[in-house]
Amino acid sequence: MIKCSGKSVLKGIAIGRIYLYKKQEYVLKQETVENPEAEAERLEKARVTAGSQLEELYQKALVEAGEEQAMIFDVHKMMLEDEDYLDSIRGMIRDEKMNAEYAVSLTGDNFAGVFASMDDEYMKARSADVLDISKRLIRILAGVGEEGMVSEEPVILLADDLSPSETVQMDKSKILAIVTKHGSTNSHTAILARSMNIPALVQTDVALLEEYNGAKAVVDGFGGTIIINPEEDVLERMIQKKMEYEKERTALQELKGKDNVTSDGRRINLYANIGNVSDVDKVLESDAGGIGLFRSEFIYLGREDYPTEEEQFLIYKEVLSRMEGKKVIIRTLDIGADKQVDYFKLPREENPAMGFRAIRICLERPEVFKTQLRAIYRASAFGTAAIMFPMIISVGEIRKIKKIVEEVKSELTKEGISFNRVELGIMVETPAAAVISDELAKEVEFFSIGTNDLTQYTLAIDRQNQNLDDFYDSHHEAVLRLIRMTVENGHKAGIWVGICGELGSDTTLTKKFVDMGVDELSVSPTYVLSVRKAVRDL
Ligand code: PEP
Ligand code: MG
Repeated sequence: MIKCSGKSVLKGIAIGRIYLYKKQEYVLKQETVENPEAEAERLEKARVTAGSQLEELYQKALVEAGEEQAMIFDVHKMMLEDEDYLDSIRGMIRDEKMNAEYAVSLTGDNFAGVFASMDDEYMKARSADVLDISKRLIRILAGVGEEGMVSEEPVILLADDLSPSETVQMDKSKILAIVTKHGSTNSHTAILARSMNIPALVQTDVALLEEYNGAKAVVDGFGGTIIINPEEDVLERMIQKKMEYEKERTALQELKGKDNVTSDGRRINLYANIGNVSDVDKVLESDAGGIGLFRSEFIYLGREDYPTEEEQFLIYKEVLSRMEGKKVIIRTLDIGADKQVDYFKLPREENPAMGFRAIRICLERPEVFKTQLRAIYRASAFGTAAIMFPMIISVGEIRKIKKIVEEVKSELTKEGISFNRVELGIMVETPAAAVISDELAKEVEFFSIGTNDLTQYTLAIDRQNQNLDDFYDSHHEAVLRLIRMTVENGHKAGIWVGICGELGSDTTLTKKFVDMGVDELSVSPTYVLSVRKAVRDL
C-alpha cells in the first residue's frame, strides 16, 4: 500500500483503477527519404489503419451518440479517400523525396487553408476536418498514440499536469478522480474538476510509475491523499466514508425547489457556472436559477480552428433552450494566460496573465468578436441571454464594445434575423475595474465579480503558480474591500451585482456577501445546494 499526499481541490472519495495519463509529445520534422516508393507504401498502410480507426469510432458514436454525431467520422473516412488530397501527398513524397509525415502536414495545411477561405459556412467548417484527418495520419505514421484518455471503464486519472484544453477534451463520464503531480488549486483545470464534481488532487507527491497503471486506488478528497493498492481495512474505511458523504449530499437534495432566502427574508439569486453544453445537465440537476457564467472560451479550446458562427449559434441555442427561459450569462471569449489556443497564433509573452488576453484580443480582432456576438444574438431568440465581457479596465473599452454590439445588431436586423433583448454587463476582475466601478456602472446593466482574477491581480500572485498557493488568499482584506466597493457602486447606479469567481461558493463568506448586498452568486453546479443551505441557515 502506498499513500501520497496532495492538495485537494474538491471533497469526496473515489475508488477505482488508475489510468496513467502521458502526454504524447511529437515534433514534426522535414526529412529527405532514400526510397520514395517505400515511403508511399508507408503512407498507404497508415491510410488503411486510419480508415479502420474511423470505422470503429463511427460504430461507437452511432451507439453512444446517435447518427448525427457519428456522421463526422464518416465524413473523415471519405476525406481520407479523396484523390486530390492523396495525390498531393504522394506528389510531395515522389517529387521532393519528402517524408510522409511532413507531406501530410503540408497538404493538410494547404487544403485547410482553401476550405477556410470559402464563403460557404459548411465548407469553411471542413477545414478543421482536414486538419483532423491529417493529424491522425501523422500520428499513425510516427507511431504516436491517440491524444487524450482511452478507457472503457471510469478511472482515476493520474497525470503530471493537465492543461484546460486537455481536461476539456476528456470524456467526463470516464473519470472518477483527477490526481496530478503539478498544478495550482486556482487553475482552470481545478475549476473544471470542481464543475465535474469529482475529487481532485494537485501537487501530489506521487511518482508516475508504469506499474501504477491499472492499480486499484482510493482518492480521498477530504484528507488530500491517494492510496495505491489499499489494504483491506483501509478500503473498508474509505467505502464507509464515501457512503457517509453521499448521504450528506443526498440530504441536500431536499433543498431542491426551495428559495434562496435568509430567515429575515433577504433573497439572493443562485446561478451556476458552466464551460460546455454538457454541463447543462448538472445545472438542471442542481436546481440553479440560471447560468451566471458560461465560460465560452472552452468552445475554442482543444480544436484546430475557430468555431464558426453557426457552430457557436447551435451551442448557445441549445444551452438557452434547455434552460427554458432562465437567464444564461455568456461571457465572451476569455483566452490567453493559461487558456492557449494555437490557431489564434498569439505572440509568446513573458507574462501572459498580464498580457494580450480576453477583451483585449476581441477588440484587436473585431472579426473574431463579431462572429461570437452574432452567434449569441441569433441564439438569444431561444431564451433569456445576457452577455458579459471579461478583463475590463476602462470606460473606453465598454464604449468600443457597445459600438461593435450595435453594429452586430443592425447587421442582423438588415438580414431579417430576429433576436431578443440581451442584458449587457461586465466582469469586475481587475482592481482597476473595482476602483472605477462607479464610472463603469453607468455604462452597463450588471457587474459580475470574478474573484479568481481579482485576487490574482490585487495580491500580485499568479494564480497558476503552484508555489504561491499558500499566499493566494481570496479572503485578503484588500479583495473583500474591492468586492464591497463594487457592490456599493453598482447599487448606487441601480444595477445588480453578482459574484461568479470561486469565492462565491465559499460558505464561510456567504453571510458577508449577503450583508454586503450581493444580488447573485454563481457557483459550480456541485455547490449550488450547499450555498442554498448556507443562505437559508442565516
Ligand atoms: C474569475 O476570474 O473569477 C472568473 C470567474 O473567471 P476565470 O476563472 O475564468 O478567469
Ligand atoms: Mg477571470
